[in-house]
Amino acid sequence: MTEFTKLDVLAIAAHRDDTEIVCGGTIIKMADLGYKVGLLDLTAGEAGSRGDAQMRANEADCAAKVMNLAFRHNLEMPDAGLFLTQENALAVADIIRKTTPEMVIIPTHKQRHPDHSTAGDISYRGCFLAGLGKMPLDGEPYRPRKIFYSVSFQDIRPTFIIDISDQFKRKCDAVACYKSQFEEKSDQREVYPPARNIFDYMEIQNRRYGYMIGVKYGEAYIQKEMLAVDDPLKLTGKSI
Ligand SMILES: [Zn+2]
Repeated sequence: MTEFTKLDVLAIAAHRDDTEIVCGGTIIKMADLGYKVGLLDLTAGEAGSRGDAQMRANEADCAAKVMNLAFRHNLEMPDAGLFLTQENALAVADIIRKTTPEMVIIPTHKQRHPDHSTAGDISYRGCFLAGLGKMPLDGEPYRPRKIFYSVSFQDIRPTFIIDISDQFKRKCDAVACYKSQFEEKSDQREVYPPARNIFDYMEIQNRRYGYMIGVKYGEAYIQKEMLAVDDPLKLTGKSI
């Protein structure tokens, strides 16, 4: 699906399936709302304990259809060897210029898998470099207006939560495309516990975030800039 097109939303992550698990409901919701949504995977997953890169490419195509993506691309950086380099940041910047998303979702810091944290660093730098005029890049300088950090795994207080109650079932369908990762097989060695029970994990995590805002399922984000409010009575949610 590497046909470059103008996007409203671009989600960037280290591995195929990362975005689906952490913010798949939001991706589907934005597509439901009529926005053009794309995913950028930084690695091809060749170092993962299960499956291989080709298998995971087919699974990523399956998930892209479930999520109604307008664009999905893989930069084939080294899996389990992701580092913040100028070359990697420029590769992300190139995609930012080619797809000019208004909003970008990237992984937050301090995660168990070092690739996940590094993916956030590479993505942020890529968004920044894309706006500089003298970089060795094609196209016009461009920066996304909004960068949101997807929150999972760690006990970080999010800035806001998106209600994904109507999208949760399809999010699970998208993750179920990754059979090589999440199908129970007795002959395979255990990987990280959430991967054995990924659907339980998403149920718990997304119910927990949903509970925080009084809905069934939610996905959590950090916005680093201060939230600007015009009319405070238009803010949703109850304090008491
Ligand atoms: Zn991952």
